[in-house]
Amino acid sequence: MEKLLKIAVQKSGRLQDNSLKLLKECGLSFNNGKNQLKTQAFNFPAEIYFLRDDDIPQYVEDRVADIGIVGENVVVEKEKNIEIVERLGFAKCRLSLAVPKADTYEGVSSLEGKNIATSYPNIIKKFLDERGVKVGIHEISGSVEIAPSIGLGAAICDIVSTGSTLLSNGLREVETVMTSEAVIVASPDIEEEKAALMNKLLFRIQSVKKAQNNKYMLLNAPNSAVDSIVKMLPGMKSPTVLPLGTEGWSSIHTVVDENDFWDRIDQLKELGAQGILVVPIEKMIL
Ligand code: ATP
Ligand code: ZN
Repeated sequence: MEKLLKIAVQKSGRLQDNSLKLLKECGLSFNNGKNQLKTQAFNFPAEIYFLRDDDIPQYVEDRVADIGIVGENVVVEKEKNIEIVERLGFAKCRLSLAVPKADTYEGVSSLEGKNIATSYPNIIKKFLDERGVKVGIHEISGSVEIAPSIGLGAAICDIVSTGSTLLSNGLREVETVMTSEAVIVASPDIEEEKAALMNKLLFRIQSVKKAQNNKYMLLNAPNSAVDSIVKMLPGMKSPTVLPLGTEGWSSIHTVVDENDFWDRIDQLKELGAQGILVVPIEKMIL
């Protein structure tokens, strides 16, 4: 029987939607019924397991799953024998230390001898050990923000994205302990056949990621401006230049980086470009 790549994704939570979206963008089609724990892709030798995110590092270490999509924060916390093989750019957040708003805080040494409530005992312990600060750790699995107000610790270490949850619980962010995003993990001992499947999937993921960072741009320009515009827009090899029906005008097609495209648009308009269209790219293979 053909080997299947076993992919662990979060069953429900902040990682799930983007994880499944990514797999679908990579061309995998599968049913994901609400209470399903496992499903098989129709058109790629893969099986998808729906698990709690905290369990994914262990399952990958044990090779119950071959790869997993999980937050880097969880990977670092669990300290399993697994490797990050791709960063995915979603579920971006940071793990921070926060203290009650009114408390004085003059650097990590202010925490010496205090208790910290967190779901990330290993990460925070290592962070403070490295800075020579000794603390007690209260490990709790959720609702960490309310801990100080109910007497469970003088500070917390928890995930922050905008900081509004901290504020509404009367807390103030004082240190960033780590930044995190979703990643793909695999066992360093992944077997050869599985590694080949994984690499096939990683290649597709990289194409999807590249496409997301780039846009296809079409514009019209007077022939006199074509050279300057082509110099400005390197594209994949070099831009395509086609004559327009209107005498003296050309159409230029190219690929631009999402990040500097607004700057480019201004320069292009200055050079006389008109009818600029920017469209998303679905996949990009260089
Ligand atoms: P599970 O039930 O699977 O244990 P959970 O409650 O532990 O889920 P979620 O809140 O769904 O986890 O978060 C999953 C991951 O998403 C986190 O480990 C982190 O990497 C990321 N994350 C958490 N909160 C945010 C946020 N506010 N913004 C962006 N990413 C976040
Ligand atoms: Zn979890």
